[in-house]
Amino acid sequence: MDSILAVTLIRKQGITVEGITFNSIFYDIQTAQKEAKKINLPLHIIDFNKTIIKLIQNPQYGYGKNLNPCIDCHLWMVKKTKELMKELKADFIITGEVLGERPKSQKYTALNLITNKSETKDILLRPLSALKLKPTSVEQSGLVDRKQLLDITGRSRKPQIQLAKELNITDFPTPAGGCLLTVPSFSERLKVHLKLKKFSLEDIRTLKFGRHFLSNDDSAKIMIGRDAKDNLGVLDALKKQYFFVFTENWTGPITVITFYKTIIEELIHSAGSLHLRYSKLRTKGRQQLYYTSIQNESESKTVLKFYKDNNFEDFKKQFNFKSFWALPEDYKMLNLKRI
Ligand code: SF4
Repeated sequence: MDSILAVTLIRKQGITVEGITFNSIFYDIQTAQKEAKKINLPLHIIDFNKTIIKLIQNPQYGYGKNLNPCIDCHLWMVKKTKELMKELKADFIITGEVLGERPKSQKYTALNLITNKSETKDILLRPLSALKLKPTSVEQSGLVDRKQLLDITGRSRKPQIQLAKELNITDFPTPAGGCLLTVPSFSERLKVHLKLKKFSLEDIRTLKFGRHFLSNDDSAKIMIGRDAKDNLGVLDALKKQYFFVFTENWTGPITVITFYKTIIEELIHSAGSLHLRYSKLRTKGRQQLYYTSIQNESESKTVLKFYKDNNFEDFKKQFNFKSFWALPEDYKMLNLKRI
């Protein structure tokens, strides 16, 4: 919302604005695209995945309340935008940052740090809080009329909501843009993976879906979908080798085991017990389950397709599987850790 307001304020001065958004798995790029479309803002999309993963692993300026390296993140975005200025024939950069809106990354010192480290003192303007900040060269040169800029500060959203009304903007997105790094439960999962050094894009993608359990020695992980959407997400996220536990004719969750070291047969059986625990079959006691090993991305895609088409018979024909009997059990009884 803040970015939209900043764009609208600057456009009111007859200045042409183009948008840049940074695509990552931690938030939904579609929100930015939708918002840009609503105000006819040309939007350039920059892939941010590899960079943000590195920033999370080693943030120079630390984290916010969760595993969100917001200062490093903003700094990188401003630097990248500066690099693109020549190509876009831009005179200056604006951001939707609001002084004091976030406890760490939008403090006066943090905003100054971002300006100084990105060497954008003369070209970086924050229209929403400009009157609370030193005048920039952009204002001093008359390129932008400082008198039409604002003095919004702090965490209250009231001034922005009021401004949005004045500017006729409705239906705006959440302040943090829905970034998963600011969500405590997701950050906790991410911290475990950071410690395990299982931090590839693919590893992280799986964290968005289902229930996750680790073996006590951290050598394997079990993921169980909560519902059909989750099941699809779990399957879609998996590309490398994993084991897949299922019940006859797909009833119940999708359960996936990733072995980080060697394959432990006992753990497949534990995954089966958990699978039953989270399935409607839990009241029926002992059940026969099946498992198969998925070796690569192409097999993974095939399973996904069969699952979507509800084509259990063809799935059974295409993949070899073994069966075993399991009882529903709680993860604590199975000596697993929930993350
Ligand atoms: S909320 Fe997420 S995307 Fe935004 S600056 Fe912080 S870490 Fe980066």
